[in-house]
Amino acid sequence: MNRQEYFHHEQFYKGIIRIIGIGNELCYLIIGNNKAALVDTGAGIGNIREYVESLTNLPIYVILTHAHIDHSAGSFYFSQVYLTSEDAKLLDLEFNSNQCNEMKNSLIEFAIASNRQIGDIDIEDIVTPYKRKFELLSDGDVFDLGNISLEVLTCPGHTKGSVMILIKELRTIIFGDACHPCTWVHLQESTSVADYRNSLLKIKSREADYDRVLLSHRPRDAKKEILTEIIHVCEEVMDGRSDKIPFEFNGFYQSYIAKKVDEEDGIMRADGKIGNIIYKND
Ligand SMILES: [Zn+2]
Repeated sequence: MNRQEYFHHEQFYKGIIRIIGIGNELCYLIIGNNKAALVDTGAGIGNIREYVESLTNLPIYVILTHAHIDHSAGSFYFSQVYLTSEDAKLLDLEFNSNQCNEMKNSLIEFAIASNRQIGDIDIEDIVTPYKRKFELLSDGDVFDLGNISLEVLTCPGHTKGSVMILIKELRTIIFGDACHPCTWVHLQESTSVADYRNSLLKIKSREADYDRVLLSHRPRDAKKEILTEIIHVCEEVMDGRSDKIPFEFNGFYQSYIAKKVDEEDGIMRADGKIGNIIYKND
């Protein structure tokens, strides 16, 4: 398989290109007059750096919304990468006990699950992760691309170091996994539901700055109302008013889906609203 087949892309708005990996994980390439920025890097299956360089000749800032490997593993193809310190620690944990191979195994599993035909994927085309240093991101950091600038908005919840990226001049925000029709807030690296709600309230105070919401997985885009709906869902969970449907994760039923999900779709809510979370009781 050549690199073109591991990715495809769509130009859907002015300077924004959406790159789709084989597991349908999404990255965004924002192209300004002087520089470009790649927000998230996919699962490291296929060389995302070469793919991006086929789309732009500009120098590229590489920014990760969070550390999960389906978004961060492609970053091992780049020499300079931005990530929050909280999530850099999360990736570092993978290497503390020489778990480099385990991470590669997870990527291979991801590739198999995504493609279901490992024969089509050359193991050589899967990145080999290594212990590395990141450039650290903080709330309010701005990346100037010339005519376009990106602002980093921290949003602890899905992970403690998750960020959203506001593309100011294009009135667009990348929510990533931080606010999704079925946001996972039940992970070991997640915050409490109360802290997640506080993060979303902070983002809501910037709601006048954007019209368009981009996600890191299907359904790819969301109405901006998703933010308010998830704030309400968090409040229902905190007040004990959620549907509390047991959710199996890693063989355990210790997590719950807050609002009933459409069985056929598997992600979207049964009642037609668009915000939902998976949480743990503690
Ligand atoms: Zn994630």
